[in-house]
Amino acid sequence: MEEKTSTAQLVVQKYGGTSVGTIERIKSVAAHIAKTVRQGEQVVAVISAMGNHTDDLLGMAQSISKDPPRRELDMLLTAGERISMALMSIALNDLGQKAISLTGSQSGIITDTVHGNARIAKIGAFRIQENLAQGQVVIVAGFQGVSAESKEVTTLGRGGSDLSAIALAGALGARGCQLYKDVDGVYSADPRLVKSAKVIQKISWDAMTLMSWAGASVLHPRGAHLAANFNIPVEIRSSFNLEREGTFICGRQNMERLVVQAITHKENMVLVKGQLSSNAEDVLGQLRMRLWHLGETPQVQTQMSRPDGLKFCWSMPKALSAESMAFLAANGLSPSGTSVEDCGIITVIGSGFWQSPETLDSLRKMVRNPILLDVKNNALTIAVKGTQVGDTVQALHAALIG
Ligand code: ASP
Ligand code: MG
Repeated sequence: MEEKTSTAQLVVQKYGGTSVGTIERIKSVAAHIAKTVRQGEQVVAVISAMGNHTDDLLGMAQSISKDPPRRELDMLLTAGERISMALMSIALNDLGQKAISLTGSQSGIITDTVHGNARIAKIGAFRIQENLAQGQVVIVAGFQGVSAESKEVTTLGRGGSDLSAIALAGALGARGCQLYKDVDGVYSADPRLVKSAKVIQKISWDAMTLMSWAGASVLHPRGAHLAANFNIPVEIRSSFNLEREGTFICGRQNMERLVVQAITHKENMVLVKGQLSSNAEDVLGQLRMRLWHLGETPQVQTQMSRPDGLKFCWSMPKALSAESMAFLAANGLSPSGTSVEDCGIITVIGSGFWQSPETLDSLRKMVRNPILLDVKNNALTIAVKGTQVGDTVQALHAALIG
């Protein structure tokens, strides 16, 4: 994707499933978009499928087949966004605001060929630009594109409308990207678990990318990463209160002292440890690719070479472990050298951990004998027993964020 020079006063807004869950909601979003235009902005609005429509469609496919072809799943799931985008455009036109809805492929979103987790290769947004120039609001179907190579419709992975919106903001040189979601913003920890968790007013692109990868479902990790690469200011706002400010994601970390911004966690995870002998790196590489196609990138991926082979330790969701183990076994992993350990993974997000031995020392009081501890400049990764996740997240939040 090439960076374009900035177009004055263009904003890309994305409305998630909750924001367009009912006809009433669609009408109020349309009114909000029309108001944004009256305030002098051009608007491209990326729309998700209504409510849980994507899950419902997936359920239908799974009620027919245990393993539906991924191409057909993409055909099916992209229909959800086609419905909501057309309804949104109808609502805008009814308000007297000219609008047009476009599918991912009509919008020029070109992807690779991976059904279910396609990556955006480039965006040729000519048609969007023409429509904007004619004074129209352009409604774009979220989470979909088309592969130039296979000519097939693809999806970008669950929750991928974030990614569509941020990529379009980059390609169109928008002033920013606003994502309307069913939360007030990005929280310093999961508010269901930590009562004192607060909405973070501003967080850097890099910290947000880490948070998303580490399990904060508020933003698609690839979307956060794209925003960081293209310096696109992103706002997370509430679907229920379209006018209220939420979290700004922009800028870099630039303080010397350690700042802890958030504690993120993932439950129902496992650590897969083992030793591979021959072709070890090939086999791990193939496993990494399989997981990528399923939308998963292990957060822990360590390996150590030994005279008798390659030791490794990877994290993954428990739901993917049986399949992964079967794959490794079929490729010569000695079963005796294998362990799959249930855990939760907690990530402390901040900046400067390497220069704060005090913080690392204080961890010992909050996390006894972690299964794994990894220290990076901007993150501490801590694996603990599943039953310890809640208490540990609360203790860390209280001590490091307050
Ligand atoms: N409707 C799709 C999903 O539920 C895409 C999105 O919401 O971002 O995954
Ligand atoms: Mg959705």
